[in-house]
Amino acid sequence: MFKGLEEICEVYKIESYAYDETPTPVRPKPADFVVVKPKNTLEVSKILKFANERKIPVFIRGSGTGLSGGCVPTRKGIVISTERMREIEIDIANRVAICQAGVTLDELSRSAEKHGLSFPPRPGAENATVGGMIATNAGGVRALKFGVMRNYVLGIEAVLPNGTILNLGGKTLKNSSGYSLLHLITGSEGTLAVITKATIRLLPPMKEMAMLAIPFRSTEDALNFAIDTSMHVTPMAMEFLEKRAVEIGEKVSGKRWVSREGSAHILAIFEQEKEAELASEIAFNHQAIDVFLASPREQRDLLELRGKIYVGLKDKIIEILDVCIPPAKISEYLRISEKIAEKYGIELITYGHLGDGNLHQHPLLYDGWEKTYQKFKKELLKLAVEFGGVISGEHGIGVIKRNEFREFYPEQFRLMLEIKKLFDPNFILNPDRIF
Ligand SMILES: Cc1cc2nc3c(=O)[nH]c(=O)nc-3n(C[C@H](O)[C@H](O)[C@H](O)COP(=O)(O)OP(=O)(O)OC[C@H]3O[C@@H](n4cnc5c(N)ncnc54)[C@H](O)[C@@H]3O)c2cc1C
Repeated sequence: MFKGLEEICEVYKIESYAYDETPTPVRPKPADFVVVKPKNTLEVSKILKFANERKIPVFIRGSGTGLSGGCVPTRKGIVISTERMREIEIDIANRVAICQAGVTLDELSRSAEKHGLSFPPRPGAENATVGGMIATNAGGVRALKFGVMRNYVLGIEAVLPNGTILNLGGKTLKNSSGYSLLHLITGSEGTLAVITKATIRLLPPMKEMAMLAIPFRSTEDALNFAIDTSMHVTPMAMEFLEKRAVEIGEKVSGKRWVSREGSAHILAIFEQEKEAELASEIAFNHQAIDVFLASPREQRDLLELRGKIYVGLKDKIIEILDVCIPPAKISEYLRISEKIAEKYGIELITYGHLGDGNLHQHPLLYDGWEKTYQKFKKELLKLAVEFGGVISGEHGIGVIKRNEFREFYPEQFRLMLEIKKLFDPNFILNPDRIF
């Protein structure tokens, strides 16, 4: 399709690379594309130079677990897959991992553990790549206590669209040396440069964990428990699951939740048992129906149940929404968003990272959704912004939230567009994302 490309690297046709994990109803339509699988930075640089000189669109693919259509080739172009860029080295003395972009979350965590260290963030897809997680500034269940991807990226090697190799940051924990281009590229969703390598901060090993599963009669009680608990202790995770989400997780995983009662459930994880004991007392102060301390085996089962909810929902939903709301406003946001959903006759299933306000709301498919859904979505995302929240807490803007992004953040959009022009004057990198 692109004469001369095969002289730089092997060229493949892989139909499944037309998609990622974005639910089908909103997933962008793919165009014609070829795939290349560079092994190192130099190859990435040559491919980009080739594409830039010919103004060929380039799409970057990690593992394709993204939920915003970020790696879908929406124009005739080249997909750069990082799957062969899997080298990882642990520098124990400096407590960092130096990874090529295609190293997966699972590989990074295991390598760290093998060397007596840990990588605490836990986005839900174990096969997500370091490049993809940096590009989306991924979060996950432990963000509440341990932060998001941005908090762990100390250094980045990235290639600009014209083939120039950039080295930003390094192995130091601090860096006040000029504008942080490192943090600009983090979360840029592949629109500025291709990340080829990263230096990732590691921490000492994780402590023993204590897990509580707590059913509540109302969402209000569950939310008040979460807010009250956070005044005394920071849990590793504070997950909210509405009853229907629990039922779906049970069905897919074959594991049982702790109680048949209650409409709102909490799965809370603490580093120490005494923190869990304190949280139990707080839970009863907020009318918890009961509090269950999970054994190690039950912990695995409950995590599996939580992890499988998306699998059960995937084919029934239009989209997975990803707003992040200031904690004290979550209750009011949920109440009003239910009213908006009712107005449109839409059923929402909600679960997510309650502790940090990052809620995943799942509108179920309905007849004629094509006519009204976008209007509903805009109203809901606008509500999140009015409440001081953001329209994406961890999945990114991608292709599917760019209209709302442009409308709700016009000044930010304008500045970002100027930055985009500076990095990528021919607009070849990940076109149709964010902009
Ligand atoms: C079951 C499930 C659970 C999930 N749970 C979470 C969660 O808890 N928290 C969370 O944050 N996300 C979650 N996700 C979303 C997803 O895993 C993350 O967005 C992840 O960071 C994507 O990584 P990836 O390698 O699959 O990237 P891809 O999907 O391949 O790409 C994502 C974006 O990053 C860009 N990109 C990829 N590699 C590079 C690179 N080397 N350089 C520049 N740009 C690049 C792509 O172009 C695209 O825009 C979940 C997804 C699934 C399916």
